[in-house]
Amino acid sequence: MTEDSVGRGKVSPRSPFYFREFGTRQLSLRTHRNRGEREGIVSLALSRRSLLSLLLIPATARAASYSQGMLVTGRVPPGTRLALDGRPLRVGPRGDYAFGFGRDHGPEALLTVTPPGGRPEAQRLAVAKREWQVQRLQGLPGAMVTPPPETMARITRERDHLAALRKTDSAEPHFAAGFVWPATGRISGVYGSQRILNGEARAPHVGLDVAVPVGTPLRAAAAGRVLLAMDLYFTGNTVVIDHGFGVQTLYAHLSRLDVTEGEPLASGQGIGLSGATGRVTGPHLHFAMNWFSTAIDPASALPATQG
Ligand SMILES: [Zn+2]
Repeated sequence: MTEDSVGRGKVSPRSPFYFREFGTRQLSLRTHRNRGEREGIVSLALSRRSLLSLLLIPATARAASYSQGMLVTGRVPPGTRLALDGRPLRVGPRGDYAFGFGRDHGPEALLTVTPPGGRPEAQRLAVAKREWQVQRLQGLPGAMVTPPPETMARITRERDHLAALRKTDSAEPHFAAGFVWPATGRISGVYGSQRILNGEARAPHVGLDVAVPVGTPLRAAAAGRVLLAMDLYFTGNTVVIDHGFGVQTLYAHLSRLDVTEGEPLASGQGIGLSGATGRVTGPHLHFAMNWFSTAIDPASALPATQG
């Protein structure tokens, strides 16, 4: 840990580095935080020395906090280089960046910040562990718990296709404008739940389920480009939208698709109607978010209240 560690970062004009070595610059920071915290904007005159702490100062001036399943977005001065756990992050011309922590991420991540013309500095981020629900579903048709062998080729092909799409790293930071709820309704399933189907443990649920009747209009959660619009075995009629920098959203079980692959979308634009296609027990929207192959909790990026 350096003196600029998470939640304790301070901008000190008394720092010997403040004027002498680096001078000052004008920075702005936008960081989306946990559901329930408000997005804020700060603009401060800071030394490059304190860039590291700037990145980690929550805009709300509350203690910095990261947690499993969280999407983290924000801005650094243009020309800054970032790496998360050794993996270089894309930084846009205006300094936008995005990264995310998966459901089972360990307690720490290493963020390396290299200011323009400066030396890399490493910062350990504490990633809080979360508790996950256990969801037991009984009496499901056998084919829904264990797909019939003749479907395996299709399932494998679709899984590989999705995995390939998740490598998309486009340069337009649509995610930076924030996200809207794709539909409003009762939350019938949350991110991270351990699923036990007919007594058998299955992969965790890595999306948000919104209980909406068949035929409810669904909206793009942010601007972007349609990467996929087709019928898949598990998720039925499915739309995947690329929001830039590896950030994607997925909408499943639609009764009608109103978009085509490659189509550009505005935030809130209609993408189709909700339904009960694919492997479902009833009509709902399954809404998922990814940062590349890492499944993110959509609730970490959505406004705290629906609308
Ligand atoms: Zn779901």
